[in-house]
Amino acid sequence: MKAAVLCGEKDIRVKNVPEPFCESHGIIIKVKLCGVCGSDLHVYKKDEGKGTIFGHEFSGDIVEVGSAVQGITTGMRVTAVGFSPCGKCYWCQQGKSHRCSDMALLGYQLPGAMAEYVHVPFATLGRNVFPLPEELSYEDGASVEPLSISYFSVNRAQPKENEIVAVVGLGVIGLYSIQVLRSMGVAKILASGRRPSRLAAAKTCGVDLVIDAAKEDAAKIIMEATGNLGVNTVIECAGKQKTFDQSVAIARGGGKIMLVGVYEEPLTWDPISVLSKNLTLVGCLGGNFPAAIEMLKSGKAKTKGMITHIFSLDEAAEAFRAQLQDPQAIKVMLKP
Ligand SMILES: [Zn+2]
Ligand SMILES: [Zn+2]
Repeated sequence: MKAAVLCGEKDIRVKNVPEPFCESHGIIIKVKLCGVCGSDLHVYKKDEGKGTIFGHEFSGDIVEVGSAVQGITTGMRVTAVGFSPCGKCYWCQQGKSHRCSDMALLGYQLPGAMAEYVHVPFATLGRNVFPLPEELSYEDGASVEPLSISYFSVNRAQPKENEIVAVVGLGVIGLYSIQVLRSMGVAKILASGRRPSRLAAAKTCGVDLVIDAAKEDAAKIIMEATGNLGVNTVIECAGKQKTFDQSVAIARGGGKIMLVGVYEEPLTWDPISVLSKNLTLVGCLGGNFPAAIEMLKSGKAKTKGMITHIFSLDEAAEAFRAQLQDPQAIKVMLKP
C-alpha cells in the first residue's frame, strides 16, 4: 500500500510499504481522511524520526477486526486513537498500562494514518475507537482529535459565564478552543494570532476581539480592553517564549494559564511574575473524544472553514509544506 514516510528533515515521500497486519486485539481501518498536526511539524522540521508514518487525526471505515475484539464490526465509520503500552515499566507491571510511562503512539512510534490502511492496536469501543454518528462527515471525523484537545483544555479551566478568556495562538486548537468557550457561554473572548486566514476564522468562531499579533502589541491591547485588569483565563496555544510572556502579562491576579501549545524550546521565565499575581499554570495534555463528537453532532462545533486544504496522499510533501507555511492554511488534510 501507499504511505507518506518521513525520509529526513522536511522530506516526506510517498512509498510502497507492506499492508499492516491485524493483531488479535487490533483493527484495520481504511483511511478516508487524515489531518496534518502541529505536533507532526515539530518532528518534520528536525532530522530525527526517519521512517515515521505520521497521522493521528483521522477517520475511515473498519475493514478488518481481530479475533479478540468485541463489539466492533467491519464497515463501521470511525475515528480512533492508537497507543501501545511498553509492558515493562512500573505501571505496566502493576497492570495499569493506561499510565505507561513509555507509551508508543500511533502516528509516531507506531505507523500512522497517512497511508491507505492503519492498524489500531488494543481496539476497544468507546475507549479508543469511536463510531461516527450519521451527522458527522469524514472531515468531521478527522477533526475530532484536535477538537477533543481543545475541549479537554478549556474544560480543565472550568471558565465561568461572567469571565473573560484570552486565546493566544490561532492554530486549529486555538480556533476550536474559541468554539468550545462560546458553547460554554463565557462573557468575553479575546484572541491573538498571526496568519490573516486564522484571524478571519477566529471572527467566524465568535471572538469579541481579535488581535493581529504580527502588527500589534497583543498584551497591550488586551490590557486596555479589560480596563487594565487582565483576563481570568488564558488558553495558551502557541507554545512560544513570547506568547508565554504575554500570557503571564495579561492574566489577572488569581487567574489561570492553560498551557496547551507544545513548546519547541525551553522557556526562560521569572517565577516572581507568576507568584506575585497568584497565577495558576496548568499543563494540558489530553482529549475528550465523546465530548468532541457530541459538539459536532449538536452543531456547537463546526469544521467548516477550519479545513482549508485537502491533498491526495501522493501530494503529501505539498501538504506538509502548506501546513507549515501557507498563509491561507488552517488545517490541511490528506485523502488516501
Ligand atoms: Zn494532533
Ligand atoms: Zn509501560
